[in-house]
Amino acid sequence: MLDTLEPGLYIVATPIGNLSDLSPRAADILCRAAVIAVEDSRVTAKLLRRVGSNRPMIPYHDHSADHVRRELLARAGREAVALVSDAGTPLISDPGYKLVREARAAGHNIVTIPGPCAAIAALTLAGLPTDRFLFVGFLPPKAKARTDAIAEIAPVRASLILYESGQRLGATLAALAEGLGARDAGVARELTKRFEECITDTLPALAAHYADKTPKGEIAIIVGPPGDAPPPSADDADSALAEALTRLPPAKAAGEVAKALGLDRRTLYARAMAMKDGR
Ligand code: SAM
Repeated sequence: MLDTLEPGLYIVATPIGNLSDLSPRAADILCRAAVIAVEDSRVTAKLLRRVGSNRPMIPYHDHSADHVRRELLARAGREAVALVSDAGTPLISDPGYKLVREARAAGHNIVTIPGPCAAIAALTLAGLPTDRFLFVGFLPPKAKARTDAIAEIAPVRASLILYESGQRLGATLAALAEGLGARDAGVARELTKRFEECITDTLPALAAHYADKTPKGEIAIIVGPPGDAPPPSADDADSALAEALTRLPPAKAAGEVAKALGLDRRTLYARAMAMKDGR
């Protein structure tokens, strides 16, 4: 008879394609937890069959009704509750954040069983700087919101990691090329699976390559940091704004300069208003 696990919440990472990537420790927890909180029981059932676990599952999402989370939290106080997502590391573009936050607030034991994560796997493959990176997850699907989100991250001096679907890949790469320029980037597809690939090039070249393709499978995009040019000075920003104000109203001038120089649009708008008032 296996020892009983300590009560608590066990965050268990699962494979992102290759079932052999499930760690022995993860398999052990999945066999011994009192209950497993899952996104989709049909997906996790396959994994449980593989490790010979017959533990019960409870569907859980962060938007699940409060009573589902309350029940899981109450159980985590007296027995072992495992949390998995369909694939990869729970909480990373997947449910679990609210559960962990509330388990911590309740003073429960919380244990992580780390393992596969598409974001980190893609980062290690792309050959782009890894010393600083920003996980962006999925960009908003609507064009305007996506453009705004890209403008917001443009000045960040770090590699960027994004998740995307094959259907939206071409449009997203085009928007990234437009908003971030000719940075080096990589498209990592089907990681850990039979047709794993990682294609690297500049953003405009990748956007052109995928413009009329809808690649199958799961995709992560890595974008290298902005080049080593020194950040624009206040004088650079003023000259660009002064020029833009000869053609555009302040809000549009601030937007154009923010995009071109990778600066904050609101700050530029305030400066544009001041310049207009002769300050
Ligand atoms: N929690 C997961 C993790 O740790 O990677 C991510 C879950 S998120 C809902 C699913 C997205 O992750 C997919 O749409 C895709 O962008 C990315 N992804 C998952 N598995 C992948 C794989 N094998 N290769 C490339 N990207 C993958």
